[in-house]
Amino acid sequence: MRSKIIRLGHGGGGRLTGELIRQLFLPAWSNPALAALGDSARLDLEGQKIAFTTDSYVVSPPFFPGGDIGKLAVCGTANDLAVAGARPEFLSCGIILEEGFPVAQLERIVASMRAAATEAGVQIVTGDTKVVGKGKGDGVFINTSGLGRIVYDPLGAEHIRPGDQVLVSGLLGDHALAVLKARGEFALDYEIESDCAALNGLIASFLEPDSGVRFMRDPTRGGLAAALCEIATDQTWGIRLVEESIPIRKTVAGLCEVLGYDPLTLANEGKVVVIARADAAPAILERMKAHPLGREAALIGQVVGEHPGKVCLETTVGGTRILDIPLGEDLPRIC
Ligand code: MG
Repeated sequence: MRSKIIRLGHGGGGRLTGELIRQLFLPAWSNPALAALGDSARLDLEGQKIAFTTDSYVVSPPFFPGGDIGKLAVCGTANDLAVAGARPEFLSCGIILEEGFPVAQLERIVASMRAAATEAGVQIVTGDTKVVGKGKGDGVFINTSGLGRIVYDPLGAEHIRPGDQVLVSGLLGDHALAVLKARGEFALDYEIESDCAALNGLIASFLEPDSGVRFMRDPTRGGLAAALCEIATDQTWGIRLVEESIPIRKTVAGLCEVLGYDPLTLANEGKVVVIARADAAPAILERMKAHPLGREAALIGQVVGEHPGKVCLETTVGGTRILDIPLGEDLPRIC
């Protein structure tokens, strides 16, 4: 490890997190399921294919427009199963509370988790509670693990080929800016809600045998840029995106200009990026648009034989920009 101490960016889902995973965790725990580095581990239990995933939630503050840490903890983990081609079924929930945390707030979080679990069709079947002393935590942290049967196979970056199309299920960047609004760091008045939602219903609406889907990912921390750059790295193909076609709310684009953020690196909590066979992409797009969570879905680019390993953006002004995995320090504790 290049860094001698842990920085906030090591939890940002960008390049620093990648370093931690590749230089520390992977060499120590090496096994084929982990090495695939998917949103979920894909396991074979004597013929039954299972997806298994875990995620911790440290969002600050725990309540924000459009959601809260509880909703995020259920949806985020359900989504990591869904993008692995699995039907989310069971969740665990580990809660770490700080001494002094209001019980009324915990009640709100628990109720929100229940609503999100009902919506996603999952059950929270096991859990754990720990409390740390005042000043030793930050209110509430939640970890959820998830388990589900894989219903769609094969899926993964190894199936991607030049000519495949890249789709996104809707507007990007809302979640990150909703959390920023809740932090009240900027004296800017804007209306925005997190897109936090369970995606398994949307995904089930287009994912079926021979639907032509090769790969899926939920572009959370690090946004669309991190999601696509990660899978393109070291491949024999590249990805070409058309900026004009990427759905971004006017408010988000405007705020990014003022605050200096790139909307393509902002976290989303209710969006899926799909890479699909070219002939199958129009039907997938149509199905997405017919679902309430996919109304703004769009075809945003394609996989190409040129610039292998790189994600390039054709900008609205006619230039080309190479996208990079963000370092991860821009927006800490966004989920
Ligand atoms: Mg994910």
